[in-house]
Amino acid sequence: MIPASDRLALGGFEIIRLLDGTFRVDGGAMFGVVPRTLWAAKAAPDHENRVTLALNCYLVRTPEATVLLDTGVGPDIGRRHTDFYSFDRRPGLLESLAGLGLKPEAIDIVVNSHLHFDHCGGDTLKTSGGAWVPAFPRARYIVQRGEWEQAMNPVGRDKPSYLPARLKPLAESGRLSLIDGDVPIVPGLEAVLVAGHTALHQGVRATSSGRTFFYAADAVPTAAHIGLDYIMSYDLYPVDTFETKKALLERAEAGAWVIGFSHDLRVPFGTLRRTGRRLDIVAAL
Ligand SMILES: [Zn+2]
Repeated sequence: MIPASDRLALGGFEIIRLLDGTFRVDGGAMFGVVPRTLWAAKAAPDHENRVTLALNCYLVRTPEATVLLDTGVGPDIGRRHTDFYSFDRRPGLLESLAGLGLKPEAIDIVVNSHLHFDHCGGDTLKTSGGAWVPAFPRARYIVQRGEWEQAMNPVGRDKPSYLPARLKPLAESGRLSLIDGDVPIVPGLEAVLVAGHTALHQGVRATSSGRTFFYAADAVPTAAHIGLDYIMSYDLYPVDTFETKKALLERAEAGAWVIGFSHDLRVPFGTLRRTGRRLDIVAAL
């Protein structure tokens, strides 16, 4: 069952946080240059200094389409990654969808914020014969062109984060839709570049009846990352993340946006609350 706190009515849209499980990473890596004494007050670490994170996906139901934002790590991630990150896929994305009474065929569009394996792992499934096939057989998969090119020929620091063999079937099946920059997806839904985590990392803005939801993905991975210096060590361009996040939060505050986070387990939907100079993210519901 999907808890009521994971559902948001946004004008004529419905938005639902769907879990693909949880994992654990080093708290220092998650909060970058911020000292442990500060971040530990927001996200309590375990005895190995790790914090528990969600693999969040969001389902956006509009009158025109059923759209899935990111697909988690997927069921076929393998022992090595599972041991390293303590992935616990209970529930996995397909079970979360089934909890809504939805089959994979119900998804019209998948949008990947970027193609690191913990955001697109569920795009494809491994058959018993060892081939990779699209997990959502009717869906069009929307990805930034430059991110796709990086994923197909990964070089540099985040090379281990890309698993291109699992993604190639999206192109081969004709289901891949490459976009450049800010692009409308369906009425009320738009892909928006929020660069920094990767060069072409994107969020998704949903607007209905004057209300806005923004899936910030790894630009604001948890509500604890609201501080401008709270930037993951994984980010390839942290100076860009700083500027992107600053602009995003200004717009979100001015427009009373609801924000969705890629990795927050406790806060599926957040809004900004200002007390004098201090800005916090609080649960939207
Ligand atoms: Zn990433």
